[in-house]
Amino acid sequence: MDHFLYRDGALFAEDVPVAEIAAAVGTPFYVYSTATLLRHFQLFDDALAGMDHLVCYAMKAASNQAILKTLAQAGAGMDVVSQGEYLRAKAAGVPGDKIVFSGVGKTAEEIRTALSGGIRQFNVESEPEMEVINAVALDLGVVAPITVRVNPDVDAKTHAKIATGKSENKFGIPIAKAREVYAHAATLKGLDVIGIDVHIGSQLTELEPFRLAYQKVAELTETLRADGHDIRRLDLGGGLGIPYTRSNEAPPLPVEYGQLIKDTLGHLNVEIEIEPGRLIAGNAGLMVSKVIYVKEGEGRDFLILDGAMNDLIRPAMYEAHHDIVPVVEPEPGLEPRPYDIVGPVCETGDTFAKARLMPPLSANDLVAFRSAGAYGAVMASEYNSRPLIPEVLVHGDQFAVIRRRPDFDEMINRDTIPEWL
Ligand SMILES: *Cc1c(COP(=O)(O)O)cnc(C)c1O
Repeated sequence: MDHFLYRDGALFAEDVPVAEIAAAVGTPFYVYSTATLLRHFQLFDDALAGMDHLVCYAMKAASNQAILKTLAQAGAGMDVVSQGEYLRAKAAGVPGDKIVFSGVGKTAEEIRTALSGGIRQFNVESEPEMEVINAVALDLGVVAPITVRVNPDVDAKTHAKIATGKSENKFGIPIAKAREVYAHAATLKGLDVIGIDVHIGSQLTELEPFRLAYQKVAELTETLRADGHDIRRLDLGGGLGIPYTRSNEAPPLPVEYGQLIKDTLGHLNVEIEIEPGRLIAGNAGLMVSKVIYVKEGEGRDFLILDGAMNDLIRPAMYEAHHDIVPVVEPEPGLEPRPYDIVGPVCETGDTFAKARLMPPLSANDLVAFRSAGAYGAVMASEYNSRPLIPEVLVHGDQFAVIRRRPDFDEMINRDTIPEWL
């Protein structure tokens, strides 16, 4: 459920007409709903009720300061994957002991920043990284809390680019090697080995891969405890999928996911951490764009929008589907027609949808891409020298620009000319 609904023929974001935002900020833009963000966070928090737990929002999905602050005020921790994200989380007021640092390539500088500013734990992805965290911690005179990310060799049954839990993926250490790695970690004086981490991929639409992975983690917990390690926290990653279309089969709900966690791990008396990103932000955001031209083609027409692949890359990168809806609700009985919906960028990849059935549209009509809140604005670029598009946050009947559109001079003047030119 989200808070982008038609009222009296006009699409609203909570209590604000989307067209009113478009008139104020211009198109294209992203708009997020506070109520949807909070609702999705709450679903996870409630799903784990009765267990000692923390929901750490994977902020790579959408990392605007206003989004982080909204979730942090509701009690969310943050899962970060870079120094920039760590500093963003701190700037949004998240205390260090609620920030988890994930990612396969943490540099010594990133580790130092996090250890100095406070960190809940590092999710360690390799033995060389473990050595570096140990060295930086000893140098700073602190002890770094860590889990080791294990790769359970489970097929997440998702798009190849976002599957992370098979042995051929670059993530984590093979679960079969875990005992050896934990034994070594326990000898390092700069580390406090507190738990196990696993994350098998994104946009999972079935529970079964989670079940297989978590069963392996449960077994490993018991093995490691028998080896003398004080395993007290399990970080279970993110990855629960969202419905991108109204028609396809609905992915499992957070409450079902929570029950699975209780079933597979509840007997272990551990603290549970999860790192959802997409499910919190995905359906909490729209990208709104304007039709520039309707161009007649053979067999179908092209809708040429002012938004492009640089603004929302998911269709080009992951063959992702986004529902696209007109901002003015179509009159009942209008015959839909097939359109290829494209942006102005000079690549055939800049195609959002092919032969998509839409009500008849004309130049200057507004359309909204649903489910664009996660991996949307954060993956945008200035390809074709198109400035990053603004982000807007709605809260009830209020809205605010939370990142403004840079002007062309700002974009151009970031470049510098060497003195020989
Ligand atoms: C990307 C990522 C997540 C979030 O995944 P979603 O599919 O957005 O829930 C969580 N943890 C790690 C380690 C990740 O890389």
